[in-house]
Amino acid sequence: MKLTEHFTLEEFTHSDIANRLKIDNSIPAELMPNIHLTAIKLELVRKALGQPIIITSGYRCPLLNARVGGVSTSAHTKGLAVDFHSAYGTPKEICQRLIDTGMQFDKLIQEHNQWVHIGFSPSHNRQIVLTAFKQGGKTVYCNELI
Ligand SMILES: [Zn+2]
Repeated sequence: MKLTEHFTLEEFTHSDIANRLKIDNSIPAELMPNIHLTAIKLELVRKALGQPIIITSGYRCPLLNARVGGVSTSAHTKGLAVDFHSAYGTPKEICQRLIDTGMQFDKLIQEHNQWVHIGFSPSHNRQIVLTAFKQGGKTVYCNELI
């Protein structure tokens, strides 16, 4: 099902882990407004980058989220966040570009130099920018883009 010009519902629900574990990761009807909001925002991200973006993790039902080690309050479980990469550049370059273009977001995370997490809020976007990296086997967050 097409959500916007460049994004489909399947891109938000697809998960290799969910498939392997036979977890039903379909989106509850009450979260569809959030999914639509996120898809509209991702069109702006795509436009800012001038490149397609590849969603590696979109919606996560609570069970899938727990299985991938996500925090229980994760915006992924509300359909308000995605992880992605893009041929535009490195995760840091992508984050910098989105900041420079004045993109509205709730949380933007440069994750482990591997992907970008972007989350949105239907009401108040906090413009939080973080870098996630491993330290002693644990993920830690730094309050700036590095
Ligand atoms: Zn994420």
